[in-house]
Amino acid sequence: MRAIRRGESGPAVAEIRSILVELELLAPESAPVVSAPAAGPFAASSPSAASSPAATSAASPSAASSPPASSLAAPSSAAPSASAAGLSAASPASSSLAAPFSSAPSSSATGPAASLDVFDEATERAVRAFQQSRGIGVDGIVGAETWQALDGARWKLGARTLFHSIPSALVGEDVHALQERLLEMGFDSGRADGIYGARTARAVAQFQREVGLTPDGSCGPQTLNALRRLGRKVVGGRPQWLREAEAFRQSGPNLIGKTIVIDPGHGGGDDLGVVVPDGPLRWTEADLVYDVATRLEGRLAAAGMRVHLTRGPSPAQPMTGAQRAELANGLGADLLISLHLDENRNPDAQGVATYHYGTGNGLTSTVGERLANLVQREIVVRTGMENCRIHAKTWELLRLTRMPAVRVDLGYLTSPTDRDRLVNPMFREQIVEAILAAVQRMYYPVENDVPTGSIDVRQLRMAIAARRG
Ligand SMILES: [Zn+2]
Repeated sequence: MRAIRRGESGPAVAEIRSILVELELLAPESAPVVSAPAAGPFAASSPSAASSPAATSAASPSAASSPPASSLAAPSSAAPSASAAGLSAASPASSSLAAPFSSAPSSSATGPAASLDVFDEATERAVRAFQQSRGIGVDGIVGAETWQALDGARWKLGARTLFHSIPSALVGEDVHALQERLLEMGFDSGRADGIYGARTARAVAQFQREVGLTPDGSCGPQTLNALRRLGRKVVGGRPQWLREAEAFRQSGPNLIGKTIVIDPGHGGGDDLGVVVPDGPLRWTEADLVYDVATRLEGRLAAAGMRVHLTRGPSPAQPMTGAQRAELANGLGADLLISLHLDENRNPDAQGVATYHYGTGNGLTSTVGERLANLVQREIVVRTGMENCRIHAKTWELLRLTRMPAVRVDLGYLTSPTDRDRLVNPMFREQIVEAILAAVQRMYYPVENDVPTGSIDVRQLRMAIAARRG
């Protein structure tokens, strides 16, 4: 196709601008300045409405069957539909209902409506921003590649089922959104390029396995629901989580050389955490979680990780969450797992719960959430403990750590059921095995369908060794 650049005007430019506005890369032109009634449909135009001109024109059956894709896919045929949508607005037949951009017939001659089809400086900036976001060469010119990517940008995540289509891959904004979400959650879907290739399908399958769906690698309504539930939309702190996810992705798919900090809770001075007397003995949270931490330290180190504990068996002073976080940050740790036990007046309260950073209303560390989800599932499946689920918290330790961090409450020391198990070293070994498997799952792309609770860590290590050698 012919490249479209700054200074040009016409229906194709109007089409490009409408997509850029929809992507919020271009400010909706302060278009109908005077025509008050016409402002209605334009101002109210939702993203889907903005792309509707091409769809509603429905000149060809194919345009009707694949709404958002239509006109730009075939640039040669784009002209008629685009002009029907945009600039033939003067004809009374095409009412303002049909097309937001045709809604200002009165002002079209002189007014701002004319600028809607001009490739101006702002449009070029928006094109550059779009190209950068898609990894396309940034030249501010809409050539074939940019044109195709812009067309794909009309697809909204959830509008269609995504799958790895061969030979021509599905391309679109929905694929891009899916890839970004997978990356945020720590799944390696490759570069977020908007193309649903084999790597994206593998990442989807891995996600599906972890949430208990059939790992078919395609993204339909069920998978989308699970993604929405787990990867809640991140607002505010988004760049931070993207960096976290990117660092995680770049760190590669194995444990060798990764740094993990294990944080046994409490343990300084008089801080013993939960204490439950048992005849002449007493069980303390500080000692039990320290024991789990040292067992875990041994297993993780054997798997090739650098492991640090935040404290020894009985430090002189209590440590705050901030101090523990600072220690982990100073080590440049890749992951942090904090270990605690819970307590409750009611001896019936029992079970395991895992916490990650999040405000509970959308702001969350998606990689942390994924680690929490894995730890929780592996422990519950392997030990049969009551599932008290994962929760978002803003506790100091979770908030101030710069790496994915979770805190696990490994049962209630005040529950006779949980206590009987926790005081048994064999049981604590089971917990260690579960956490180890969860950490493995964070890094190791399990190619085959391995259900939760059944990973044999030794086999995994052999597989990793085989790959490396
Ligand atoms: Zn505690």
